Amino acid sequence: MRSSILLIYTGGTIGMKEESERSGLVPFDFSGIINEVPELSRFACKIDSYTFDPLIDSSDVEPGLWQKLAILIKEKYDLYDGFVILHGTDTMAYSASALSFMLENLAKPVIFTGSQLPIGRTRTDGRENLVSAIEIASAKDKKGRARVPEVAIYFNSQLFRGNRSTKVNSVAFDAFRSPNCLPLAEAGIDIKYNTSVIRRPEPDAPFSIHTDLDTRVSILKIHPGITPQVVRNILCGPETRAVIIETYGSGNAISKDWFVSIVHEAVSKDNKIIINVTQCLSGEVNMNLYATGKALANEGVISGGDMTTEAALGKLFFLMGKTSDNNAVKQALQTNLRGEI
Ligand code: ASP
Repeated sequence: MRSSILLIYTGGTIGMKEESERSGLVPFDFSGIINEVPELSRFACKIDSYTFDPLIDSSDVEPGLWQKLAILIKEKYDLYDGFVILHGTDTMAYSASALSFMLENLAKPVIFTGSQLPIGRTRTDGRENLVSAIEIASAKDKKGRARVPEVAIYFNSQLFRGNRSTKVNSVAFDAFRSPNCLPLAEAGIDIKYNTSVIRRPEPDAPFSIHTDLDTRVSILKIHPGITPQVVRNILCGPETRAVIIETYGSGNAISKDWFVSIVHEAVSKDNKIIINVTQCLSGEVNMNLYATGKALANEGVISGGDMTTEAALGKLFFLMGKTSDNNAVKQALQTNLRGEI
């Protein structure tokens, strides 16, 4: 039987076209996608499209879009073999991370892609990204199962786990990496799937979605010269339930008494959830290595291991949306839920 794919267009550079010199780049009507990318008509699969209204630059993405995407995928789950989401690159790693937690026991591919140049431009990277993303979303193994039953990002010949990805380049075609996780697939003459890395759902477990998100999270990036006032505002703010601290190297922060005592106040007095991720692109947090990290561990700061900031944010939104018990969230944060650790 022919595979069928739902192509979901949310906005971003990929779907832009220069209508006239005066109008500049404007989103084009996606029902005409086959005219823009005639290669799509040669696929042996059926491709339907769904366009969000309004289309947005992904810098304007809010959790509401993730909820709509999760609901749409749930509604159409039995009708399609895979989903391709066209999305702006700026927040693609955030959206892919969040969706990976919101979709549970996913047995079908959900592949995000986009481009650095609009699909209507001669040198666009959008056409290859789109065509290969569709091929991956429709690929089955010998047993007839989806080859990549994960939320992933396809970009510039590589397929990355969504919650391991980060945007690393604002101009080059290789805009994404997953520094702590091997690519799930690489496209050359053939698409080579890295089956030992690709996760599979629990057999027979039903697919479900989680759309309750609690977004009361702040991100604090440690830097030389940061003041006690700034740290206190972020860590102890009454509206904040959790804070992601982006620390140096293997999880080191400031060892000064004022810093440790603000962390103590936030964790011990207010029982806030504080998670430590590294500012480094690769590697992981190990708070037992240096005294500056140990002080945080002693105060009850949770290690984010090798999680990206994007993954930690999506995971917190998801876990906090499920329970009001901060201790349960702290426990679950340390569990590998979707291959994010
Ligand atoms: N600002 C655009 C967006 O994220 C950039 C892109 O699509 O690459 O929507």
